[in-house]
Amino acid sequence: MVDAATPAGAGPLPLILNLTADQVRETFAQWSEPAWRADQLLQWLYARRTGDWSAMSNLPQPLRHRLAATFDLSIPSIVRLQGASDTTQKFLWRLRDGALIESVLIPANPALYGDRADRHTLCVSTQVGCAYGCRFCASGLDGWKRNLEAGEIIGQWLAVERWHDTQPPETRRQSSGPRLIDNLVIMGMGEPLANYDPLLTALRTLNAPWGGGIGARKITVSTSGLVPQIRQLAEEPEQFRLAISLHGATDDVRSQIMPVNRKYPVSELTRACEYYLERKGRMITLEYILLSGINDAPSHVKPLGLLARRLHAKVNLIPYNAVEGLPWVRPPDSSCVAFAEALRQLGVATTLRLEKGHDIDAACGQLRLKTELAQATAS
Ligand code: SAH
Ligand code: SF4
Repeated sequence: MVDAATPAGAGPLPLILNLTADQVRETFAQWSEPAWRADQLLQWLYARRTGDWSAMSNLPQPLRHRLAATFDLSIPSIVRLQGASDTTQKFLWRLRDGALIESVLIPANPALYGDRADRHTLCVSTQVGCAYGCRFCASGLDGWKRNLEAGEIIGQWLAVERWHDTQPPETRRQSSGPRLIDNLVIMGMGEPLANYDPLLTALRTLNAPWGGGIGARKITVSTSGLVPQIRQLAEEPEQFRLAISLHGATDDVRSQIMPVNRKYPVSELTRACEYYLERKGRMITLEYILLSGINDAPSHVKPLGLLARRLHAKVNLIPYNAVEGLPWVRPPDSSCVAFAEALRQLGVATTLRLEKGHDIDAACGQLRLKTELAQATAS
């Protein structure tokens, strides 16, 4: 990747955001530029969030020209922004090849009594579509199109930060530092662990003090349960958090709604989680969508509770968010509350999200699907 130059006319230039700091340094070394120029460039890219080579005023002009001829500085462009500035906001992005993906910006404490939240979580996508085909999920309905590049994952963060930089004071959110986003969840479209290397490159840049400045403990990777990659992630030096999309604590229930369970059944997944726990000493989160008549009966509480206790995991209960065209039903709030209470009785730390962003289709994939449907209908 260091030999990143693409001859003119041979396809798009590589994204500058794909490069690690070391790769920027190596490129500059090859170009016989002093090492500190690499730090200047990283500053322009991530601290000052500049979108224009010519604005990088402390870089000599020939170097700026060479960069512009070698790398693409573009980031995802906003197609649509949904949601009010003090609530959850959803960004639909178009990538260089026209593909559509999305990110969701979630305030930590939804504005209460006129106060604005000052902590923000960004949920990013890692693939266009998804190959895993969980039966309740909109992201997989159209299958898998392609993996995102590291620079496209980082680009979602950068595009939101840049968008926020240009907001007028009345719609600007409060932030606790020079950047808006404090937390990152990898829960948008796609299965992050199926795009492992670009994901890790992106997470390292977003974690670095010169990059996104987001602490590793504030970055959560959510997976449908790819066992080999969970073990691989356990070997990485960073303390990223892991969330498992469990949705069923027995093979019977889980295989009904998640085809991935046939490849990696609950017992294998559990062992991989134990290994992660052993290596990291970090608490895992189990995500559990409540689907009426599938996994929400009182009899489903005990296997889930036992599994959570074995893994010292907390459980996030999420009532299913209806997806057009899919047959599943969200249980009434009262049964969700009862399920949560029964789980707590077993001594499991449990949260029940009576869903933020429900009103703007925050479940992964839905906004994109609707836009594509609308485009297809219009053309
Ligand atoms: N592929 C990864 C991350 C993206 S999905 C994974 O599966 O973990 C992010 C989360 O949204 C997962 O927990 C997923 O199960 C959940 N999800 C998908 N469709 C949903 C729906 N319709 N309602 C509620 N949650 C949903
Ligand atoms: Fe893919 Fe996750 Fe949706 Fe399953 S829940 S189809 S793994 S994005």
